[in-house]
Amino acid sequence: MTDSTPAPARPAGSPGIRSLAVLLTALVLATAAAVMTYLAVAHSRAGGGAPPPGLTLFQASTLNALAAGHYDGDLAFAALKPHGDFGLGTVNALDGEMIALDGQFYQIRTDGIATPVAEDQKTPFAMVTAFSPQTTAALAQPLDFRQLQAHLDGLLSDPNLIYAVKITGRFRWLKARSVPRQTPPYPSLAVAAGRQVIFEFTDVEGTIVGFRLPAYLQGVNLPGYHCHFLTADRRRGGHLLDCRMEQGRVEIAALRNLYLKLPTGVATGQDLSRDRRQELEKIEN
Ligand SMILES: [Zn+2]
Repeated sequence: MTDSTPAPARPAGSPGIRSLAVLLTALVLATAAAVMTYLAVAHSRAGGGAPPPGLTLFQASTLNALAAGHYDGDLAFAALKPHGDFGLGTVNALDGEMIALDGQFYQIRTDGIATPVAEDQKTPFAMVTAFSPQTTAALAQPLDFRQLQAHLDGLLSDPNLIYAVKITGRFRWLKARSVPRQTPPYPSLAVAAGRQVIFEFTDVEGTIVGFRLPAYLQGVNLPGYHCHFLTADRRRGGHLLDCRMEQGRVEIAALRNLYLKLPTGVATGQDLSRDRRQELEKIEN
């Protein structure tokens, strides 16, 4: 008889199988860890996590980019609206002034008529916030626009913050403007604003939607006040140039966060760091 004792079968858990199992488990764990790390990064990149404390100004593009003639953004109003119910800006091709009040977004072309902005229209420059005022004050005495700005400055707690201001009132007189739609190749904002159309209102009630930007945001925006106006019947308005307010009420929100959304291609071939303050002050005031 030959010794044909069969080799004993390796019990489960023999060293060979165990090492394979350990290797596979390690591979599975490493893969899972890599996937989880990837998801965590993707989540944080997508803006996951708790929102920052305080109110936020959401801004599409920079004012210097607009001044340089960057009039076509890639942000649709459908995507802008979730960032705020209150704000101002313009529409692609610099097709008029934009004002947002109580979640309603309006476009005001050179006829001075306010019409709702379509969801699929896009903006090259806009500022919006979820308006939540912390301060309210009555404006009892007549004020022109410069006096109004000085009066508002006295109500602000810190000039280094960004402020959203909503003024509801009666105006003996008010001057606003809009800019005409441009066609490529786009001229600079200084040239385009040279073709602005001015509207004058007398004995009108309405709302000023405005922001005050601190000096250090020069270039990203324009320091000081930027205000748009909408009549109480929400049929007319424009970019506010001057006014004579009889009486009104101001609501003020301090914004501690700035979210800047740069459109695709905003920086290509344009010097966005140029000091355009003088040029912009002439256009916007
Ligand atoms: Zn404006």
